[in-house]
Amino acid sequence: GVPEVPVRPIATRRASRRIHVGPVAVGGGAPVSVQSMTTTRTSDVGATLQQIAELTASGCQIVRVACPTQDDADALPAIARKSQIPVIADIHFQPKYVFAAIEAGCAAVRVNPGNIKQFDDKVKEIAKAAKDHGTPIRIGVNAGSLDRRLLQKYGRATPEALVESALWEASLFEEHGFRDIKISVKHNDPVVMVNAYRLLAERCDYPLHLGVTEAGPAFQGTVKSAVAFGALLSEGIGDTIRVSLSAPPAEEVKVGIQILESLGLRQRRLEIVSCPSCGRAQVDVYRLADEVTAGLQGMEVPLRVAVMGCVVNGPGEAREADLGVASGNGKGQIFVKGEVIKTVPESKIVETLIEEAMKIAEQMEQDGAGA
Ligand code: SF4
Repeated sequence: GVPEVPVRPIATRRASRRIHVGPVAVGGGAPVSVQSMTTTRTSDVGATLQQIAELTASGCQIVRVACPTQDDADALPAIARKSQIPVIADIHFQPKYVFAAIEAGCAAVRVNPGNIKQFDDKVKEIAKAAKDHGTPIRIGVNAGSLDRRLLQKYGRATPEALVESALWEASLFEEHGFRDIKISVKHNDPVVMVNAYRLLAERCDYPLHLGVTEAGPAFQGTVKSAVAFGALLSEGIGDTIRVSLSAPPAEEVKVGIQILESLGLRQRRLEIVSCPSCGRAQVDVYRLADEVTAGLQGMEVPLRVAVMGCVVNGPGEAREADLGVASGNGKGQIFVKGEVIKTVPESKIVETLIEEAMKIAEQMEQDGAGA
């Protein structure tokens, strides 16, 4: 059995304030956005813009760039101006780069209260500069760099400690009438992270940026993020997400999009419904699924394609999909919108599915379904 594709969001979204990161609305019921972070030296404008272009192509909606040096700060105006998607400057340690990023026209600035000493004294000026430029601030608390005072108070980075750090920082901005804020409270342990966000969601109405920090290499990081984001998003918590992987950033975006699609929080594009195969399979399902996936890569329309190994669930799933194949005896029955349109030999299954998919996609585009 393959689960039904959700057609509605999984939960009522938590009510939150809305901010705007460039043209991307975050919170207040806006669609959950997917972000990532570049791995290039920010001072290398060409390489950074190249990576941003790749991220944009993979569906990334907001990109964050690190800003550890003056050279990086100097590169921000060009990057902010030329990037196709809004750029957030990520600042640790040096308040002066916060001002540089705001001046540079970055769409938002991420500050880590644990990593900016004497930050509290600077909040007034930062709030003023950010307000003048309409630049939102992400208060990004991270278990690995929790404010010392809170580490002492709680002994370790508990959900309470993470939330208290974030809300303390937010309160300093609020004192200066600044509420253009989103918050993250990241931890590498999904259980701590989920509890931290639940607590935070109760205690404020700021939009929340979800992340499991240092989630690990691609496989482990994908599972950790999917589990943690799934738990929170299924409770309506979360307004923008970043999957952190020790892998190229475009991979993070793919995972993020897949998580949102899986929860019905985003219209699916291509979906391959394929069976896990079993002792009954009469064709090589893995190879078929891979080849069909590769052949249909980049399709923009919400096409559901079923690739099934035998006649047990095959015809049923194939019938439910826009397009499908149910295999048996070295042949494939090709279904379009529930009707068998032809039966082809196994060697022709992939090309036939791709051909039919293109026809359906064209029709969908004409009907405006791809909009
Ligand atoms: Fe199900 Fe047939 Fe695929 Fe086995 S081969 S998993 S029975 S559809």
